[in-house]
Amino acid sequence: MVSYKELGLVNTKEMFAKAVKGGYAIPAFNFNTMEQMQAIVQASVETKSPVIMQVSKGARKYANPTILRYMAQGAVEYAKELGCPAPQIVLHLDHGDSFETCKSCIDTGFSSVMIDGSHLPYEENIALTKKVVEYAHAHDVTVEAELGVLAGVEDEVSAAESHYTKPEEVIDFATRTGCDSLAISIGTSHGAYKFTPAQCTRDPETGKLVPPPLAFDILKAIEEKLPGFPIVLHGSSSVPQDHVDTINKFGGKLPDAVGIPEEQLRKAASSAVCKINIDSDSRLAMTAAIRQHFAENPGHFDPRQYLTPARDAMKAMYVHKILNVLGSNDKL
Ligand SMILES: [Zn+2]
Repeated sequence: MVSYKELGLVNTKEMFAKAVKGGYAIPAFNFNTMEQMQAIVQASVETKSPVIMQVSKGARKYANPTILRYMAQGAVEYAKELGCPAPQIVLHLDHGDSFETCKSCIDTGFSSVMIDGSHLPYEENIALTKKVVEYAHAHDVTVEAELGVLAGVEDEVSAAESHYTKPEEVIDFATRTGCDSLAISIGTSHGAYKFTPAQCTRDPETGKLVPPPLAFDILKAIEEKLPGFPIVLHGSSSVPQDHVDTINKFGGKLPDAVGIPEEQLRKAASSAVCKINIDSDSRLAMTAAIRQHFAENPGHFDPRQYLTPARDAMKAMYVHKILNVLGSNDKL
């Protein structure tokens, strides 16, 4: 049994309370590789932002859970080395699919877990979430639950269509499960293809796809039911068009990739939404930088040569999100 406290990590409790009160959101960046971890830490130290480093089931399979945990511990020490005396870093399990997975993460140093029972019937989602909350709280670990289903594909989580969260269920769900935060479905979506062209309109000037707006009326209704309760948005990459264009220019093929416009996320961040998940944008930044580097330097074969610009591109993206979308800067 390794407690996250021994690793220098924090849970989300205080962080979320401050974010809800302050009208900003904490960045939740997924990571699988050392370069992503370094970029996340550099960005959070430079902007003085608390940060959630999150690990999906796919990341655990790719990188190995033990390595990821030591990387999170390394992230804390690296942040101190970069001049942040008291970093606030959460190691969070993204889309935990069973009590056993959540327990194994809690037992090995995670400070926060998500139990995603959103695909289950309502009562089963409550029972599973409650079981995880009881174990987690006994170890001072915070729990994110999900109500409503997001469309899209993310690692092994996928759904053909979304089902918006029903505001009339949130009080019952939050009270009976005891969860610390709630991921809701208001029209965000997993992956780099959040919407089909048929769901979007086209900008007559640029020809680019314009996605349907988020359901702010549902968010508002949820906030009224649960004043001050921390709300989480998944699938909130904006799929920056410059990265998509770079990828396509240098041999990639991502036609009609589309994300959530940043001004909508900024509006959400100023509400009870206190955690915004961003994964695809990091993948796009990394891939764009690597494709460009190879196209311009066909003789390079040292991974450090192409991973350096990839890391820099991810860091720039993280800094941009913190400063211009989430507003979590200058909080350390
Ligand atoms: Zn998600």
